[in-house]
Amino acid sequence: MAETYKIVIGLEVHVQLLTKTKLFCGCRNKFGLPPNSATCPVCLGLPGSLPVMNREAFRLALKAALALNCRIASHPGHPPGFTKWDRKNYYYPDLPKNYQISQYDLPFSHDGWLEINVARDPKKEFTPKRIGIIRAHLEEDAGKNTHDESGRGGDTRVDLNRTGTPLLEIVSHPDLNTPEEAITYLEEVRLMLRELGVSDCEMQEGSLRCDANVNIHVPQPDGTHHETPLVEIKNLNSFRAVGRAIKYEAERQYEEFRKDTRGEYRFGKWLKETRGWDDTRGQTEGQRHKEEAADYRYFPDPDLVPVVVSQEQIAAVKAEMGELPQQQRSRLVGQYGLTAYDAGVLTAKGRRTVAYFEAVAAAVGDGKTAANRMSDLIFPALSDRREEIDAFPVPPAGFADFLKKTGPLSKQDRVHLLGHMLDHGADVDRAMEATGIKPQTFDEGTLRAKVAEAVAANPKAVADFKKGKDAAKMSIVGAVMKANRGVPNDVVRRLVDEELAKA
Ligand SMILES: [Zn+2]
Repeated sequence: MAETYKIVIGLEVHVQLLTKTKLFCGCRNKFGLPPNSATCPVCLGLPGSLPVMNREAFRLALKAALALNCRIASHPGHPPGFTKWDRKNYYYPDLPKNYQISQYDLPFSHDGWLEINVARDPKKEFTPKRIGIIRAHLEEDAGKNTHDESGRGGDTRVDLNRTGTPLLEIVSHPDLNTPEEAITYLEEVRLMLRELGVSDCEMQEGSLRCDANVNIHVPQPDGTHHETPLVEIKNLNSFRAVGRAIKYEAERQYEEFRKDTRGEYRFGKWLKETRGWDDTRGQTEGQRHKEEAADYRYFPDPDLVPVVVSQEQIAAVKAEMGELPQQQRSRLVGQYGLTAYDAGVLTAKGRRTVAYFEAVAAAVGDGKTAANRMSDLIFPALSDRREEIDAFPVPPAGFADFLKKTGPLSKQDRVHLLGHMLDHGADVDRAMEATGIKPQTFDEGTLRAKVAEAVAANPKAVADFKKGKDAAKMSIVGAVMKANRGVPNDVVRRLVDEELAKA
């Protein structure tokens, strides 16, 4: 069946940079300070004050741009690396200068891409897709208005602490085609920027914000397609909201398209519409139509000198960038024989988790086992204990020792033992002593007799196994393990195979 329509999505992501101070003044860049306590004449826009660029902000932005495979300020008619600051003029109560310092026609970076996994089942396969980046530019954030929504006619308060915070705007090409792809892209951007120390990307605190540009292409019988007018969705305050809003908006646009018999909607009465996402009601609501592009009267900021990024600067930032998530995933697959999914899980948990994994893998000499046991045992424990890997009481060497000594045990026994180690701070030997859970030495003849008993006692499982149901075999393995605590799992599996072959 032909698809009813294709969704076309471009994302504009704003991230606040993790600098100590603001972009053009020395005020603190920190979330949660008392209102208007981090301001000065520069960020308040008082007459006579002059901005000075924060080099650290520029360095962090450059790092992000290089990680996004962007070209650095390569503009025809200008020297390589030449970029400048522009004033974007508009009035808003949280913008005391009446203009925002941003970058207009010569952004410091542009024409990049980011690869994401768009496999239908990302647990099983890796299907790469490159999402184009139109540009990434640096600008200052505005302040924040807080409206009294009690309905009692209270005040609107303006907090200018955020004014002048360094903000990186990353604009993607409309290369995303499903809500899931949009979320995957955002997760990848967030992971990368966190790993690079560029931004903490906390959506609740507003250090990562996202607007989605969405429309749909409806195929026509003659092979062409109709495009609905572009809608920019604002107020997206979680990745989940991004996914829901895109899905809602695509369906809404398709309904509009179907109802539109006079062709007004489909033939672009509006250039672009801005709609806000209402998360509680689960719908977008019209805010304004743009009949033409807004005119911000951009002009070069006369108070700031243009910046020329040198090849040396680019090389220096590249040198300190380290391994990016994408490179890390493929290295983990190549070096340790992990599946793309397992490599993805480790990478998504951050560099420190990967370092822990690599230490364990080296100590036990088996990457797959290290990855599997971390997924089975450590990740659930960390989430129960609300801990980060750095604070995990069992260091990599201790966990490797645990794996070597508990290899033959069942998963339940390992969970129990590790739990004891976490609660009592003991090493694996003392935990085994205290709990009595330890690998038992069984001579193979005795164990084979137990397996034969279990096979004889489970005629249905044997019959199912003969019909090709592998799960039936595991039920016999499970029964033997349960009745004979501490026997080596791998030996039991082999013996069950052998006894089933005879049955
Ligand atoms: Zn300031």
